Amino acid sequence: MTRARVDTVVHGGLVVTSSTVTPAAIAIKDGRIAAIGEESMMPDAARSIDVGGKYVFPGLIDAHTHIWSEGFGVTTRAAACGGVTTTLIFLRGDANDNIFEVATESKRQAVEQAHVDYGFHVYLFDRASMIEELEGTMKLGIPTFKMFMAYKKRQMKVSNEFMLRAMQTIKRLGATAMVHAENGEMIDVLEDQAIAAGCCGAEHFYPTRPNVAEGEAVNRAIEIATHVGCPLYIVHLSSAEGLARIKAARDAGLPVWTETCPQYLLLTDDDMRKWGPLAKIAPPLRTRQDNEALWTGLERGWIPVLATDHASYPPEAKEVGKKDIFQAAFGAPGVETLVPLAFSEGVVKRGLGPSWLARVLSEGPAKIFQIYPKKGALQPGSDADLVVIDPDKRVLLQAKNLHQGAGYTLFEGREVRGWPVLTMVRGQVLLDNGELKQGPGFGQFLHRPMDGHAPAARTT
Ligand SMILES: [Zn+2]
Repeated sequence: MTRARVDTVVHGGLVVTSSTVTPAAIAIKDGRIAAIGEESMMPDAARSIDVGGKYVFPGLIDAHTHIWSEGFGVTTRAAACGGVTTTLIFLRGDANDNIFEVATESKRQAVEQAHVDYGFHVYLFDRASMIEELEGTMKLGIPTFKMFMAYKKRQMKVSNEFMLRAMQTIKRLGATAMVHAENGEMIDVLEDQAIAAGCCGAEHFYPTRPNVAEGEAVNRAIEIATHVGCPLYIVHLSSAEGLARIKAARDAGLPVWTETCPQYLLLTDDDMRKWGPLAKIAPPLRTRQDNEALWTGLERGWIPVLATDHASYPPEAKEVGKKDIFQAAFGAPGVETLVPLAFSEGVVKRGLGPSWLARVLSEGPAKIFQIYPKKGALQPGSDADLVVIDPDKRVLLQAKNLHQGAGYTLFEGREVRGWPVLTMVRGQVLLDNGELKQGPGFGQFLHRPMDGHAPAARTT
């Protein structure tokens, strides 16, 4: 008997990269990809996995999740059940918290709880001394700092002054600014007027957060970032107006990136009216025209990332919004439905091709968030993170079968075609036909940027 030279060979699949789909086998050794090629060329392996003609994607990334009421364990477990192998998580914290301390404590918790590999983003609030905490936080492996241009009433909004100063420091440190781009002052006036008029139903929510509030804020963030020379990532883009401004910046070669989310591609204000506070998210669900503009942006590469903004609250926590929509918490779950929805709606229904999915859920976020090519690529030396999707498996999305802490999904009753049936992380099976094979603490922290990947190397 010959001695195995690699640990595992995954064969019989269609290997998907950001530009090709090829029948090939993948050899794995010590948690990394050792070789990709014809099956007959593969070295001897201790274990062989036949994926029977299904697609083999690189590990899939949700670059935008929140752990709010769930904690690291529940959010990352739902991610793993949905075929996600890496997630980037926004840390909890408020204006009075020292972000270095929040990040240190979060690392301690997540190392015991995470089911998938993970990195962190942190919030910046309008406190001048917070800017001094940036450098230490970055040394912990967190180079992405998010500011809110909205939520003044909740003491989360930053001023233009703070944003300018923070971007100067972020640029100097080689980090990336992220913004929630909605004009908070406009929104607060419209909201106050709606409340004064007694208009507090679900149908009154979208009118208080009009498309122009996003378009204006996207524009302002780009102008300030461009003046400073600071790399900028606009989270959860939701409008055609915002997209137009981002496309213009990217066409001009500026370091500006964005993401959109399944809810902004597939749902509209009609769903807000149907679901009420359960669908209260910000930016709000908008119109079919916005859906279509965002699909076009994702297809053409103007939007290089698809992520979820997963923020789970159980229905009880949203109850207050039935009487007054403005009182309800913001957020809806999504990490577990990201991969099936992207495959079913993008690859199958819109015919965008498997490589499109590899770009927006793997290579794009990996490059922008500086974990490439450890993550985001199927090539020798990369982590052996694989997602096998059965393109023919049909599943009815139902909250009762999901693991998100919210206990509901805005995609209830939607049939998807294509389902992640097997995932591997660092060469180990994580998910096998709906069953998790690893426990909490399996996920590893991604100290970013990974070696040798300065912002200048990001080309997507
Ligand atoms: Zn978010």
